[in-house]
Formats: sequence, structure tokens, C-alpha cells
Amino acid sequence: MARYTEAVCRLCRREGVKLYLKGDRCYSDKCAVDRKSYAPGQHGQSRKKVSEYGLQLREKQKARRIYGILEKQFRGYFKKAERQKGITGENLLRLLERRLDNVVYRLGYASSRIEARQLVRHGHFTVNGKRVNIPSYLVEVGDVIKVAEKSAKSPKFKELAEAAAHKTPPAWLESNVAGLEGRVLAFPSREEIDTGIEEHLIVE
Ligand code: SF4
Repeated sequence: MARYTEAVCRLCRREGVKLYLKGDRCYSDKCAVDRKSYAPGQHGQSRKKVSEYGLQLREKQKARRIYGILEKQFRGYFKKAERQKGITGENLLRLLERRLDNVVYRLGYASSRIEARQLVRHGHFTVNGKRVNIPSYLVEVGDVIKVAEKSAKSPKFKELAEAAAHKTPPAWLESNVAGLEGRVLAFPSREEIDTGIEEHLIVE
């Protein structure tokens, strides 16, 4: 599957905000946005007037980059969100939050969504007892996400469990760090999605 392979800090600098793509580094003084608060590239420091369309485009790119998905897949989410009842923008964010890689990240078993995706791809998680290695898998209410039995014994997951014990998942998820698992209690409400995305700009 295609994916972005260049330096991810450039993406944050392009959007002008922290997208938290590199785990602990994002909270340190090594963060590229803090060190170089201008867009990357030769013309990164020149001031440009951004059109309304430009703002909308940037917001869409920001959403794609936060969740690490490509254009075609994003369009698929948008179409699905349009078909659902309710507000399209909120439906879209809810769909993105329900991705298995995002849920693993939210539960604290990965320091970033990028790491979460890699762990899922390598088959380290089960959903309701079945191994799922598809990062875009959409969780349902009541699903139990658990570290696979074999993986749970590895030092890597002992380390991740220790880190997860210090994190608080959002209210729509329940975490049981001792059992290396989590449960989906509900779909997230708009207020519980703290990515800073202004979804109305994307819909417009
Ligand atoms: Fe973005 Fe994190 Fe890199 Fe900072 S360290 S620029 S927040 S990915």
C-alpha cells in the first residue's frame, strides 16, 4: 500500500502546526515546528496571502496528515461521511477516529499514529479475539482491542504498557493496561476529538 515516506516533520512545518507525528520527540525541544516556524523549501519564509480555497485545502491536508492517509482513501471517507445521517464534517472526523491504528494510539499503546499503524500491520493486535492487521479497520461499539498473546510477552510491549499506564484515553474508550486491552464504549462525540481540525473548511 502506498504511503508517505519523506521526513514527516516537513508536513508539520508545511501546515504551520504540530501534527504530533513523531511521538515523544514532538513534546521535546527538538520539534522542528518550534525550531523553524516557517514552511519548508526555498520560499518557505516568504509571506503569501492565502485564498479561501487555500485555507480549505490546507485543512484537508492537515486532516490527511494527522491520520496518515492518502488522497484517494480520504475521498472514500468523505463519501461515506456524506451518506451517513447527521453533519458530514463530524461524521468524517468520527470515521477517522474509528480507525484501528488511531484507537491503538488513543489507548496509549503507541507513541504516535505512525507507530500504531506499524504495530497493527505487523499483526500485534486482535479485535474481539481475531488478529487484525488492517490499520484502516473501523472499530464498532463494544469491540475489544487487545495486544496479541505472543506480542504481549515481548519487551517492546512491556515498555509500551508502562507508557500507556501514564496516559488517559478519551472517554469513548476504556483502557485496561494490566490486560493490555481496551474497549470501545461509544463512538466519539465532536468534543472528544481534539485534533484541532476545522472540519467545516473541508466540507466547504
Ligand atoms: Fe511535527 Fe512532531 Fe516533528 Fe514537531 S517533532 S515537527 S510535532 S512530527
